[in-house]
Amino acid sequence: MAFDAVRGQPAAVDVLTRALASGRVAHAYAFVGPPGVGRKLTAMAFAKSLLCPSAGCEQCPACRKIEAGIHPDFMLIAPTFPEGKTSGTPLIRIEAIRQLEQRAALRPAESAWKVFIVDDAGRMTAEAPQAFLKTLEEPPARTVIILILTQTRELPATVLSRCQVVRFMPLHEEEAVALLQSRGMDEGTARLLARASQGRPGLALALDPAAWLERRELALSILAEVGADGAAALFKWSDTLGRDRGQIEQLLETWWLWYRDLLCAKASGDPRLLIHGDRAAELAQSAAGRSWEEIVAGLAACREAWQALQRNVSPRLTLEVMLSRLALGAA
Ligand SMILES: [Zn+2]
Repeated sequence: MAFDAVRGQPAAVDVLTRALASGRVAHAYAFVGPPGVGRKLTAMAFAKSLLCPSAGCEQCPACRKIEAGIHPDFMLIAPTFPEGKTSGTPLIRIEAIRQLEQRAALRPAESAWKVFIVDDAGRMTAEAPQAFLKTLEEPPARTVIILILTQTRELPATVLSRCQVVRFMPLHEEEAVALLQSRGMDEGTARLLARASQGRPGLALALDPAAWLERRELALSILAEVGADGAAALFKWSDTLGRDRGQIEQLLETWWLWYRDLLCAKASGDPRLLIHGDRAAELAQSAAGRSWEEIVAGLAACREAWQALQRNVSPRLTLEVMLSRLALGAA
């Protein structure tokens, strides 16, 4: 049935299947958890369970129309670029919320329910939650709204308090590996990406494995080069990458996981604990040449750089500070 495709989220699936079985379906849900663990897949399955005459068969016209986004009682809202543009910050705009309001006020056209999914609901523009609150305060009959969030604090408490919160967790490694293998990855790649995505297989599926390996090579070669050539290499890389916040976030994650592995390598040497298990020998050698303090300071540098980016410090400055801490050993 509809929830069969959802892996590794027994608690969330249990809450939803019990609501369906008892007929006590909430007006609004907040699906909260990290990206790539199946929040949207579960929301789609819930929508099919409500709108399909056979409780989410995946075969009938209703299920197919939901999947294609053309069911009259279903609407999926996601962040969009500013009107008429193909770049910029994707946001959930007030026009989309107004459209949701209008559609929610109508009677269901083909099914017993209407279902609205707001993906990345934390990316609402400033005025959108207020507009949205009206619909939540006086929920139209037979209407279910599902907000997909990473953290509850992404939305005002006034909005969240009107939703039933359903939590989603990262998958266990074996579940993530099995899922990636079922999508055609060989076991070695599936394990590497299951670990690197830290139980968020949706992120691993969005990655091209070759591109991921290339990114790792780039991250490690930057560290090595700055370590060997000092400030000259540091400024070369901050000139090259300093404007690209997305790429710096990806490099940061790679460095963070590398230092995490150094810590594991120094503590136990058991390659099964490593994310970069295919580079166990290199990690062991690198860990042996570093003190505990040095490795822990590297992890702290990565974490603080991440926090700086979240606080909108310029990517270039963040990169320069972090590389000087990681590769030059500067405090
Ligand atoms: Zn169906």
